[in-house]
Amino acid sequence: MARTNLSTTRVKPAESTLLNLRVLRRQRISPNFSRVTLGGGDIARFDHMGFDQWFRLFIPIADHTLERLPDKLDTLSYVKYLTMPKATRPIMRNYTVRAFRPGGSDGPELDVDFVLHGDPAAGPVGPAATWAQSCSAGDAVAIIDEGTAFNPDPQCSRLFLVADETGLPAVAGILGSLGDDATGTAVVETPHPDDAQPIVGPSGVELRWVVRDDPHAAPGRAAVRHALDEGVDPQMFGWAVGESHVPTTMRRHWVGQGVPKTSIMFCGYWKLPRGRRD
Ligand SMILES: Cc1cc2nc3c(=O)[nH]c(=O)nc-3n(C[C@H](O)[C@H](O)[C@H](O)COP(=O)(O)OP(=O)(O)OC[C@H]3O[C@@H](n4cnc5c(N)ncnc54)[C@H](O)[C@@H]3O)c2cc1C
Repeated sequence: MARTNLSTTRVKPAESTLLNLRVLRRQRISPNFSRVTLGGGDIARFDHMGFDQWFRLFIPIADHTLERLPDKLDTLSYVKYLTMPKATRPIMRNYTVRAFRPGGSDGPELDVDFVLHGDPAAGPVGPAATWAQSCSAGDAVAIIDEGTAFNPDPQCSRLFLVADETGLPAVAGILGSLGDDATGTAVVETPHPDDAQPIVGPSGVELRWVVRDDPHAAPGRAAVRHALDEGVDPQMFGWAVGESHVPTTMRRHWVGQGVPKTSIMFCGYWKLPRGRRD
């Protein structure tokens, strides 16, 4: 994970242990997103907190390797995970709860929206994005709940959310969890106009979709340009996630405009390789 203050803003879940789940179904929901629905196994122990709730996702690369994972992810068990042989060590990545239905058709269901990043001609790059395009019903995965990071002081009068496409599920979760009286602005960048999703939220929060015109442009820059043009209310709560440039630029800007650091949550969800960064 790139730069973040997530550990200071984080609200931990009541239980943060390994949950073994299965893929219930997979659906291509838009040009650059695959929705994978998880359930079965330990899903009854999952505690839905809403907002930008995220979790560690473990994808097996060989049969039965999830069984060797530690039950928790503290410093010691993380070292244990890292020392597992590469040939059997499950892939670990971070993802957001896009939706949770306690009473789905197959029991409780958890939706995860994966960005299918990479060169469309060459197929997705990255094991998680590749898996999200090829997994099947019944496939095993495991998750460890990490709770939420969106944690504004009740005194904050307005919200300002900025995200690239990897933050779209979190923006949807936040807007869907806010009270009706919430006000503010949410800016979400997507690679394609059809990646915009219907999102339910308070009428006082304006959701703006920014489409990346140039497919070769670095993700997040268009959302940042758009957000920098907006006026800043020093009483607001700022939340910025996505490619590292998004949170670092927005945080610097907001702090420069008088927003207290404690009223900002910023998290680099991923990092462009060197050479593509500006
Ligand atoms: C708290 C948190 C919540 C997150 N929630 C989501 C979510 O709900 N949905 C989601 O899609 N992502 C989410 N992410 C981002 C996701 O974890 C990363 O994009 C992850 O690196 C993808 O793993 P991978 O195996 O596909 O690619 P990796 O193996 O990690 O990376 C392979 C290459 O792809 C590049 N890359 C990684 N992600 C992207 C991208 N999105 N676009 C372009 N290039 C990329 C890397 O720079 C690297 O060069 C979240 C991250 C965090 C920290």
